[in-house]
Amino acid sequence: MQTRNLIAGQWVDAGDGRTIAVRDPATDEVVAEVSDASQAQIEHAVEGIVRAQASWSRTAPDERAEVLTRISAIMGERREDLARLMVRENGKPIREARGEIDYARSFLDWSAGEGPRLMGEIIPAPSADKRLFVIRQAIGPCCAITPWNFPSAMITRKLGPALACGCTMIVKPSELTPLSALALAEICLEAGLPEGVLSVVVTSDPAMFSETVLGDPRIRKLSFTGSTEVGRRLLGLAARHVCSVSMELGGHAPFLVFDDVDIEQAADAAVSAKFRNGGQSCISPNRFYVQRSVYDAFCEAVRDRIERLRVGPGMDEQSDVGPLIDDAGVDKVLGHISDAVEHGAEILVGGEIADVPGCCSRFVQPTLLGGMTPEMRISREETFGPVMAVQAFDDEDEAIERANATRYGLAGYVMTRDLARAIRVSEALQFGIVGLNDPVPSTARAPFGGFKQSGLGREGGHHVMDAYSEVKFVSARI
Ligand code: NAD
Repeated sequence: MQTRNLIAGQWVDAGDGRTIAVRDPATDEVVAEVSDASQAQIEHAVEGIVRAQASWSRTAPDERAEVLTRISAIMGERREDLARLMVRENGKPIREARGEIDYARSFLDWSAGEGPRLMGEIIPAPSADKRLFVIRQAIGPCCAITPWNFPSAMITRKLGPALACGCTMIVKPSELTPLSALALAEICLEAGLPEGVLSVVVTSDPAMFSETVLGDPRIRKLSFTGSTEVGRRLLGLAARHVCSVSMELGGHAPFLVFDDVDIEQAADAAVSAKFRNGGQSCISPNRFYVQRSVYDAFCEAVRDRIERLRVGPGMDEQSDVGPLIDDAGVDKVLGHISDAVEHGAEILVGGEIADVPGCCSRFVQPTLLGGMTPEMRISREETFGPVMAVQAFDDEDEAIERANATRYGLAGYVMTRDLARAIRVSEALQFGIVGLNDPVPSTARAPFGGFKQSGLGREGGHHVMDAYSEVKFVSARI
């Protein structure tokens, strides 16, 4: 297990011997002690990616694509080990961890394909003595800051396109889940990524990290995935040197169920969307709006399914819902439940800490709350836990209005079999991603990102290449 930082091509311990304890969320046991990078080491890592930028950007796109393909292939060979490592630090069910490794690889494969297709244009000139060209070039050395909830995929979603476009990158993973990031860095070197092109730095002082890295005008891109609050702070820092930004921030997804649906299918979709990663996902639905005539039937069908979910440690093949990441996460989720109950919600199932033998008390029972209202915290703030809150609505306009009544705009879900309604509602929702009868609306080949305070820019699809390249116009007089 790699526990040192990758800085300018070398694996290094923290100069002063400081480490960060990585804990297993299921048991609270220390899994590893990871080097805690100093400011001087972060500066050194920045120097490393700045130095490596020129030659990496001149490397042929096909050669860069080959490196990405090799990284993905090695990840495939080590899928099981990487998945198990992820479970140790993140807690998610092992089946989901394997799925995340596949998902993480898909960004590398997709980027390997897109890199050689980064095309320019020739524009007809207004006079015979001119020729006008548009070329796309690497934006320059980049910084990625990533969260703990998808410890591998949130990195490859940035690293893949950055490398494909010819950019170097310094990655700061969450200090809660650095092991997957360091394992990925090892694979990158093994796959032949030249020294210095990638640095991975773990620190217990993220504010110092961002001030150091974004204080350097040579860093030309910040790609951040995390909370809206931290994103806002980073936007301020990026403004100093007018650094380009991509922001994948928080969400508060509505899930609309219309009365024309097949209730069993809608319940399957709702439970699948809600309880993946224990609800700790930015596109996890936080508000369920169900048309009044099917409200009771939907709640019944969902309750049935929730009662069958198995809560347990991620390493157990049978577990459907693992622990929450830390005690603060548990407090927040329980706080949302008690606040909802104080405001009149009814607990239809769950609502408490689950007792999991041999584990600590970070497991929250999958919970269904009826009678959600706009006054409740759960209908405004990200819960990031296994709680489904449901409210009835009467007509389409009301459903759309409630769904859009949020500062967030990442994902929204619509369950209907009425084609005209499906199109109308998808168009009316103010969200960057719409899951239309689809509880899993994410793939490397399509743009992912939010409206409003859920972010800026898109990851995935051909769109992501815009984030890591600059457009240069060459006007030639001949
Ligand atoms: P977070 O904002 O607390 O942390 C994210 C990252 O930012 C971590 O690496 C953390 O160390 C770092 N960080 C914290 N303060 C910082 C600072 N001052 N300067 C620089 N870096 C700093 O978020 P989290 O708890 O790790 O992740 C959960 C959040 O991420 C949720 O809001 C979720 O919706 C969001 N998220 C969004 C997407 C998306 O694609 N839109 C995907 C996954 C998660």
